[in-house]
Amino acid sequence: MMVASTILGNLSLAKTMGVSVNGISANYTALVKRQDELITFMREGVRSTAKKKGVELIEGRGRLAGRGKVALDDTTLHFKNIILATGAHWVQPDFPGADLEEVSTTDYLLTAEVLPQRVLLYGRSPWLIEIAQFLRRFDCVATLVTPDQRILSDESKTITARLTKVLRNEGITIATGGQITAINKESDGLHVELNSKAGGEMLAVDRVITLERRAAIKELGLNTIGLEEGQPYLTVNEKMETGVEGVYAIGDLTGPPSLHYSHRAAAMGLVAAENAMGNNASLNPQTIPRILFTQPQIACVGITAKQAKEAGHDVLVGSAPYSMNPFGMLISENEGIVEIVTDREYGELLGAHFIGTAAAEMVGQAILVMQMEAPFEWLSEAPFPHPTLSESLAEAARDALERAIYLP
Ligand SMILES: Cc1cc2nc3c(=O)[nH]c(=O)nc-3n(C[C@H](O)[C@H](O)[C@H](O)COP(=O)(O)OP(=O)(O)OC[C@H]3O[C@@H](n4cnc5c(N)ncnc54)[C@H](O)[C@@H]3O)c2cc1C
Repeated sequence: MMVASTILGNLSLAKTMGVSVNGISANYTALVKRQDELITFMREGVRSTAKKKGVELIEGRGRLAGRGKVALDDTTLHFKNIILATGAHWVQPDFPGADLEEVSTTDYLLTAEVLPQRVLLYGRSPWLIEIAQFLRRFDCVATLVTPDQRILSDESKTITARLTKVLRNEGITIATGGQITAINKESDGLHVELNSKAGGEMLAVDRVITLERRAAIKELGLNTIGLEEGQPYLTVNEKMETGVEGVYAIGDLTGPPSLHYSHRAAAMGLVAAENAMGNNASLNPQTIPRILFTQPQIACVGITAKQAKEAGHDVLVGSAPYSMNPFGMLISENEGIVEIVTDREYGELLGAHFIGTAAAEMVGQAILVMQMEAPFEWLSEAPFPHPTLSESLAEAARDALERAIYLP
């Protein structure tokens, strides 16, 4: 869906380059059909690869039934090692009207045949931001309401301010510090009563989409192996061990919603599998990126300058806007920027924060530097290809060293 959204977003750039495309239409039914075909194809691919590699797949709802035991329907299966990966479950909001048919989770979009005209997206989740942009580009009136004081409130203010500006310019209404107090169904749609920074107001929409997911920790039988069921998520160490011998856990089950990323789950899965098979693997949680496939994309890894100062670092920051990057100028990237956060004394890269085209691809270079614990100066010395946006990462490093080339 976000790829389709980006294609639509690129049309305005095409126009500035003299490429005009007439008769544009966005057909949601066709998009969902392609999505379903891709999911089926990928699922079958995983199934057959697993089979070829000797993985036996037993389907059903499992529950721990003591150490080394999983109960599945009437059978009890025995294992030497177990990796728990039950993900997260949806949490229904508690305002009056939350149980109305037109109030749903984002799953609704996976099966909807036609998109609603007016949609209110409610919650803290970053995925709601992607969805708001997608809906707007598919001609819906989109309103984003977050209880936080700003969208992506954990990220640097530079990143969130630039993204907020882009979204508002596209016609998305953003209400921060907002709470839904009630929803009533009336003849002209849902009447949503809202408290936000701007005060109390009522909005009429056709659908409300909420997104809150929490670790699926309950009904797992954790108590049968001596683990606490009442905690918000399962805590694991860098080896994905839960503290009970032979029991590992990965993914959304092991973290708060702000850490719910599929690449985190996958990286944890690899580490858990290695260790369960007798190898010795570990994962540095600091190197897990936070990505958003909006246009412009967001990609952040490590900590912000504010967090670094709070942690006691002598902070050195460097930044490079895409508007000063030769390729960025070619593609009119006005909002893009790379910010790096480093430790002045040790030259350690503490964080890298991107907004702009290809941000999700470029953050990998910063992750590698962090993973290798290499001095950030190396970024300033590496011969990045020209003209590419990746030169901005080198330029941000040079900026931190007061050796910027493109910056005035
Ligand atoms: C709208 C939306 C968009 C997102 N977009 C992105 C994105 O662009 N990039 C990104 O990195 N992440 C994204 N995420 C987050 C990502 O989907 C999750 O972080 C990821 O799927 C977590 O993987 P997991 O394996 O921990 O859990 P899941 O993928 O949730 O898998 C857990 C599985 O375990 C099953 N299960 C649960 N309990 C049991 C049981 N007792 N017995 C048997 N099976 C059980 C569940 O049915 C489920 O199939 C998005 C999430 C949402 C909601």
